[in-house]
Amino acid sequence: MIYMRANPIGAADFHGFANRICEVLNRYELSERRNCVMYRSFLVKYGEIGVKGKNRYIFENMLMDQVKFALKPVEGSFEVRKEQGRIYVDVTSEDYDYEGCVEALKRVFGVVAFCPLLQVEDEGFDKLAETVVTHLKEAYPAGNFSFKVNARRARKNYPKDSMEINADMGEKILDAFPNATVDVHNPQVMVCIEIRSMINIYWEEIPGPGGMPVGSNGKAMLLLSGGIDSPVAGYMIAKRGVAIDATYFHAPPYTSERAKQKVIDLARIVARFSGPINLHVVNFTDIQMYIYEKCPHEELTIIMRRYMMKLAEHFAKESGCMGLITGESIGQVASQTMQSLYVTNEVCTMPVYRPLIGFDKQEIVDISEKIETYETSILPYEDCCTIYVAKHPVTKPNLEYIRKSETKLTEKIDELMQIAIDTVETIRIEAAE
Ligand code: ATP
Ligand code: MG
Repeated sequence: MIYMRANPIGAADFHGFANRICEVLNRYELSERRNCVMYRSFLVKYGEIGVKGKNRYIFENMLMDQVKFALKPVEGSFEVRKEQGRIYVDVTSEDYDYEGCVEALKRVFGVVAFCPLLQVEDEGFDKLAETVVTHLKEAYPAGNFSFKVNARRARKNYPKDSMEINADMGEKILDAFPNATVDVHNPQVMVCIEIRSMINIYWEEIPGPGGMPVGSNGKAMLLLSGGIDSPVAGYMIAKRGVAIDATYFHAPPYTSERAKQKVIDLARIVARFSGPINLHVVNFTDIQMYIYEKCPHEELTIIMRRYMMKLAEHFAKESGCMGLITGESIGQVASQTMQSLYVTNEVCTMPVYRPLIGFDKQEIVDISEKIETYETSILPYEDCCTIYVAKHPVTKPNLEYIRKSETKLTEKIDELMQIAIDTVETIRIEAAE
């Protein structure tokens, strides 16, 4: 069972929060060799949802849906439920894939952390202490950890109050682990004990991705190429609760089926976090060639990008998206100078979200490694943008000049755009295993 608790984080707590993340990571590493079979439940902690006032239950329900969705492919059966402002996920099958479950939960936006839970009946304090000690021995066989007991007595008829449980349990643990020490400020192991109708015991907090549950913030259209940046951009916007559709422009026969497959594979990795993606594969060849034929070659990339944005916006509007997403970052290449972004953006009527705008390449690479798109992104297949790239593309395009160049494109460009729209291939992308 997995179980979630509201845990709002204010900006002022940021440093405390960062410290807590480090502690959590410490504890997680310390207990890596744990025996997982004992966990029949998890407690999942969530952050910003907790501050949503009377709409909170809507976000909680969305988070529960996302957790259910993430656990679908995991071996075993699970029940997600809410109880007293917390969300529990119960393991209802005899066996289940613990690692798979942990991996799935690590990808659910909205989850700040989750704790594998031991749930036991109340059979008296001595029995409880015995259970705690037995499982601590399994989790930390070396026994040389620092700890703190953190008890909460939600059921007031329990014979000991929280302070007594803290003190008495601490003593039992010290008796059983001669090399363990108490550290009330920065313990390696925080032994949490909650006395409810059942008793919850947990000491491990595994970090989740944070963010907001996908679907809680509408939908946007990602311009997805086969590069490093755009999958990361999609991930980052999805993290804020936004569902994703995607558009990919390819240029057969100049770009291969393998290049298209690479984009599909990237979309499948992003879908692990964002949920299913409708990927629109647009044949851009004729548009690209027509621009190449009519316009100055050094302006080709900028003009092409303006047409990409127009087409992406068409599909975005058609599928109820409220914005476009790109992987652009200021100054990364000629088409991403402030002047180029200004000219590209000028054709858009909906907001364009560029979550990587202030990131250096290495920062983007770091995220792509973390979300596991990097290895796919660096496969060396061609992209439609690179095929006709001019030796010296304009880096400071002037909007009036670009517009003037575009007047050379007759109504044929509208026909070509319509053909691209009519021949779009839409692929439903499900999450990669
Ligand atoms: P990426 O930015 O994904 O690493 P890239 O760096 O090769 O790929 P750029 O030339 O930087 O692509 O393009 C900037 C942005 O334009 C991309 O992040 C992506 O959002 C969009 N884009 C570029 N090429 C394509 C394409 N073929 N199909 C869809 N979107 C594209
Ligand atoms: Mg890029």
